[in-house]
Amino acid sequence: MKIYQSWGHYPKIDKDKQDVYHVYPDSFSFPDLESSDAPSFLAFAQGRSYGDVCLNEDGILLDTQHLDHFIHYNKEKGILRCEAGVTFENILQLIVPHNWFLPVTPGTKYISVGGAIANDIHGKNHHKAGTFGKYVLKFELLRSNGERVICSPTENTGLFNATIGGLGLTGLINWVEFSLKKIPGSNIEQETIRFNNLEEFYRLSDESDEGWEYTVAWIDCLASGDELGRGLFMRGNHCESNKKHKFKHSKLSVPFNAPGFLLNKYTVNAFNNLYFKKPIKQYSKVDYDPFFYPLDAIANWNKLYGKKGFMQYQCVIPKEHRETAMHEMLSIITASGQASFLSVLKEFGDIKSPGLLSFPRPGITLALDFPNRGQKTLDLLNELDVVTQKYNGSVYPAKDARMSPHAFSQYYPNWKEFEKYIDPHFSSGFRRRVDPK
Ligand SMILES: Cc1cc2nc3c(=O)[nH]c(=O)nc-3n(C[C@H](O)[C@H](O)[C@H](O)COP(=O)(O)OP(=O)(O)OC[C@H]3O[C@@H](n4cnc5c(N)ncnc54)[C@H](O)[C@@H]3O)c2cc1C
Repeated sequence: MKIYQSWGHYPKIDKDKQDVYHVYPDSFSFPDLESSDAPSFLAFAQGRSYGDVCLNEDGILLDTQHLDHFIHYNKEKGILRCEAGVTFENILQLIVPHNWFLPVTPGTKYISVGGAIANDIHGKNHHKAGTFGKYVLKFELLRSNGERVICSPTENTGLFNATIGGLGLTGLINWVEFSLKKIPGSNIEQETIRFNNLEEFYRLSDESDEGWEYTVAWIDCLASGDELGRGLFMRGNHCESNKKHKFKHSKLSVPFNAPGFLLNKYTVNAFNNLYFKKPIKQYSKVDYDPFFYPLDAIANWNKLYGKKGFMQYQCVIPKEHRETAMHEMLSIITASGQASFLSVLKEFGDIKSPGLLSFPRPGITLALDFPNRGQKTLDLLNELDVVTQKYNGSVYPAKDARMSPHAFSQYYPNWKEFEKYIDPHFSSGFRRRVDPK
């Protein structure tokens, strides 16, 4: 049975406190709020957001899983129109055989096109391509008054810009048209390089900007001293393949919530040491799936964090402060003794998104996953916030479950402009938390 929780399993929502309506193409009309106790709507797609942007306690979730049809595919020009619940996994199955690819993809293929727009997702190619919103040509938005509005960079532009990165608050996206990326084949030529500290990371990242489409680094967040920020740098470009790509859905799965203590400082430290020192093949040609989606190989990996779930913290810091800010953040984490199991570092480029509330901006982004240990974890994230705010950075709503209204208004100064476009009957846990009025 589908669970209407977010990926981090935090905050937890009592299932009796969220009504769910399924959206079907063409025949959908909003239920009457007057006759219901639930005061607002929110679309829910694959629930791959970590915090509460996809949750609506005491409200109605509009499940988009049946909006799963392709509408038009122009194979020559690489333009696809599909319903908003179609997943990236299904799109790849359609387009890769014709040497097309998603213009931007996150670290999982199990997300929907509607979710990709609402969080204006970014990928390993942000420095070359910007966010998903840049490739959106048109969409249809269903407002709660029944109006269907076509939005594009030239039609209803205000609503278009507000919906890209609009956290699902401007209405229900019905279908989307966007452009694809031409590729020579389904493989990636990949290079993996071990680096011993943050300085080496910056050097690698700067030198890879020009010639590499995709760059990202895994870091050992428990390393300290001269080895602070050591890790593995991965860079890749699309290339031809002699074999036909085989589409597979993950077979391995974590069947139940692991005991909460499984991921602790000692186990993470042991894993990090092994991972950092593992023999690496510097150059290799790999299939795109393990390159982009290594975590998809194990379904429900989020259950490894136990019943209390986990919190992700993803921030971006302007480039001019990257050295000091990253040094401060990693030192805070090491001193806290709390270990982030997955820690990822990447430099964003300066390609601007049309989205009013888009998260990515030029600078360095750090993403961390902490098992939820209650107040102790919240205190650590508050300490990281101090650094983010000191250097004029920002935190990603798609991964957030605890930012304050004050922090939000500092990170997203366009919020006031955005508010004009919010559908009066749409809301979310995230919205009520950051804008309590
Ligand atoms: C393993 C993993 C790796 C990830 N890596 C990245 C990454 O590299 N980069 C990145 O940017 N993100 C990343 N994410 C986050 C993920 O890409 C986003 O949270 C994405 O938006 C999830 O899409 P979804 O379909 O699951 O939407 P949901 O989580 O269900 O919903 C997300 C938001 O979209 C809104 N929404 C969904 N459908 C519609 C619709 N039809 N109309 C209007 N609003 C809608 C919802 O209301 C909600 O506000 C990752 C997540 C995971 C689990």
